[in-house]
Amino acid sequence: MIYWDHAASTPPYEEVIRTLTEVMNKHYGNPSSIHQLGGNAVKLITRAREVCASALQVKSSEIVFTSGATEGNNLAIKGAALQYMGRGKHLITTTVEHASVYESFLQLQQWGFEVTFLPVDSHGCVTIESITASIRKDTILVSIMHVNNEMGAIQPIETIGTEIKRCNSRTLFHVDGVQGFGKLPVDLNRWCVDLYTLSAHKFRGPKGTGILYVREGLKLTPLLTGGSQEFGLRAGTENTPHFVAMAKAMRMASVRQTSFTKDVSILRDRIHGIIRDIQGLHLHSHESGAPHIVHFSYPGMKSEVLMHTLELQGMLVSTRSACSSKHTKPSRVLLAMGLSNEEASSGIRISLGDSHTEEDVSQLEHALRSAVEELRPLLEKGRN
Ligand code: PMP
Repeated sequence: MIYWDHAASTPPYEEVIRTLTEVMNKHYGNPSSIHQLGGNAVKLITRAREVCASALQVKSSEIVFTSGATEGNNLAIKGAALQYMGRGKHLITTTVEHASVYESFLQLQQWGFEVTFLPVDSHGCVTIESITASIRKDTILVSIMHVNNEMGAIQPIETIGTEIKRCNSRTLFHVDGVQGFGKLPVDLNRWCVDLYTLSAHKFRGPKGTGILYVREGLKLTPLLTGGSQEFGLRAGTENTPHFVAMAKAMRMASVRQTSFTKDVSILRDRIHGIIRDIQGLHLHSHESGAPHIVHFSYPGMKSEVLMHTLELQGMLVSTRSACSSKHTKPSRVLLAMGLSNEEASSGIRISLGDSHTEEDVSQLEHALRSAVEELRPLLEKGRN
């Protein structure tokens, strides 16, 4: 079995699993307790926060631990909108965001905010002109993802951030960085980012934990109230084992980023070549996109059918973003990126990790060619 679904989730590093188990075993005290076990937990969390901050080259007081990127995105977007609604009620995002961002904006619309959803071009990118044309005096927040989870499109975050601040220095900039961290360089200060979301299970850390970077001086209205944990932004007993294990994964992922990008891009380019060469397949991802995401379709053939045919040959790929795989309609994101209904209903995502080899790609090629050969008669029968 070869796992080609790293954009959905990644296998935790051995060291991460060891750390998780060790902290669960030894450091189970509640960090709010004032005895020594509580104190030890506080020390571990403080150290974990420093490690995460250093991987992002920010201050540790700017790192808020969360239960993952769904929570981080909700807190960043709704927390900023509610906190700064006195400045205005206009918000900007794109049509290709992850559901945790998109649905947050839909909810804010229901709460009386005005949201501009920017379209993307054929490469899946927003244009700078559309951003500058949309920013107004009352725009409190712009939220744009770094790397798209379905297609791998990379947004020009640095230019976007600079332009936002040039148009309105008070407009906040939130970036969903989930699919970019560890895959591409990140520079929050140069990018003028105020809020940045990460999820540990996308960079070989544990599931159910993540980070929201909140620029110093910024306030957010908390979504969870209760205790004063996480600087009062997220009530609830801290998940010490997960935070410490995430910090370990984060350090490893940031140290390995350059070699990841280089090695995985070579495999991605080879897979692109294979897909272009197989008659009937449409390649949708671009060389200019993220190194770890390939997207293509076999128009006329339902994604699930090709996915299961590949699975029978030991290749685990994905039909769409894991969070929406239970939906029956074609992906909103793929349609917004200009794919036809037929292409979007037959889309397949292959996402790579650092353990893949040239031999894995050869096996994938073999599986793809034989799956297409096997399904072609079905497709032709359906068309006649
Ligand atoms: N944003 C993006 C771009 C994602 O790919 C995902 C995970 N599919 C999320 C947010 C949500 O992350 P989590 O699983 O930590 O809630």
